[in-house]
Amino acid sequence: MASAQQKSGFLAPWRNLLLWQQIVIALVLGVITGAILNVTGNESAAVSIKYIGTIFLSLIKMLIVPLIFVSLVCGMTSVSDMARMGRIGFKAVLFYLGTTAFAITIGLILGTLFQPGAGIDLGTASAMEAKSAPPFIQQLIAIVPKNPIAAAADGNVLQIIFFAIMFGLSINLVGDAAKPVRDFFESLNSVILKLTEIVISFAPYGVFALMAWVAGTYGLDLLLPLGTIIVALYLGCILHAIFVYGTLVSVVGRLNPVRFFQGIIEPQIVAFTSTSSSGTLPVTMTAVQKNLGVNRSVASFTLPLGATINMDGTAMYQGVAALFVAQAFGVDLGVSEYITIILTATLASIGTAGVPGAGLVMLSLVLTSVGLPLEGVAIIAGIDRILDMARTSLNVTGDAACTVLIAKSEDQLDLEAYNTPHVLETPEITRA
Ligand code: ASP
Repeated sequence: MASAQQKSGFLAPWRNLLLWQQIVIALVLGVITGAILNVTGNESAAVSIKYIGTIFLSLIKMLIVPLIFVSLVCGMTSVSDMARMGRIGFKAVLFYLGTTAFAITIGLILGTLFQPGAGIDLGTASAMEAKSAPPFIQQLIAIVPKNPIAAAADGNVLQIIFFAIMFGLSINLVGDAAKPVRDFFESLNSVILKLTEIVISFAPYGVFALMAWVAGTYGLDLLLPLGTIIVALYLGCILHAIFVYGTLVSVVGRLNPVRFFQGIIEPQIVAFTSTSSSGTLPVTMTAVQKNLGVNRSVASFTLPLGATINMDGTAMYQGVAALFVAQAFGVDLGVSEYITIILTATLASIGTAGVPGAGLVMLSLVLTSVGLPLEGVAIIAGIDRILDMARTSLNVTGDAACTVLIAKSEDQLDLEAYNTPHVLETPEITRA
């Protein structure tokens, strides 16, 4: 499929690489550059390089609101069967909750095996301010926007999803008289997709800059004391991705899991470096549709929903971190505390926004639920970016796995596209 047009010129060897190849090279070069800057005492240069990453992140964030709204409206108008939308929503929520509980359990097991807090004696701590989650019913009510423009301005994804579904449904109900509106949205969708492609083509430069900044500013002196918690979380994320998602994709979806992981390498790396699953959304949407052949009607709904409520990496992190704090403060946890952690971490991960560091803030909720000192949050904060990279990558992988499985079960997966090697490349900016 889509055989890449050979590009010529001085930069041809670079420009002829597929996007994911450019991104992987950028990631490695970023780590090397950052490490050199760090050991040579040039941290400030690493901080300056970060500006390029910040511009890239702003560019993708700029797309989130129009992309979610327009593609979901188009997704709605391309499904005539409304019962299907309900079914897709139900399956997505079930998948998201089930895998999240699994992820925390893995986190708790690894936290018990690795004992990341052992040997770090912090004694007993005084109280700190806990963050409390708004009651569940209020969170539900808040999904209905009073003002869709305000929802868009605030980037409130659940409210945008709600309005887009209602809007698309109304276009369908109006029928022929709404054809100009439907056509307008189709055309707008093509424009936004092109814009997304252009922005994503800057990913290698953004990834390089963000990686150089992280590697340049986090020295080994900061990482080593908390090394075990880093190893436990990274291992847990890899195990969860391979065994939980890999097994679901191959056994339930009867699809080649290797192709699945190949197809989402761009969003995984962008998530890893940006630490924002909402920010990565445009990349995830493009990858599952172009690389894995998922139909827009599924991807435009399950991915924004997943980026908002599905955070397996975050949930696992909360499990590992809670045990870390318990061990460091010498607190013994019993079975009922473990169950409380599973429940609160599931809820906390749903309530966590897909933005950098949000999981750390929600950690206070989990710690409070089992009476652990909140000082633990402050200790972990020093290395949170490193932990956030792994958990955000897993969060995005979970959204994509759910999307692929639901698309398969709803007959909305183009198997030929799924099984065809990667197609995402940097776009040629020429006029059609
Ligand atoms: N950064 C994560 C995300 O965007 C959320 C978290 O902090 O755990 O998915």
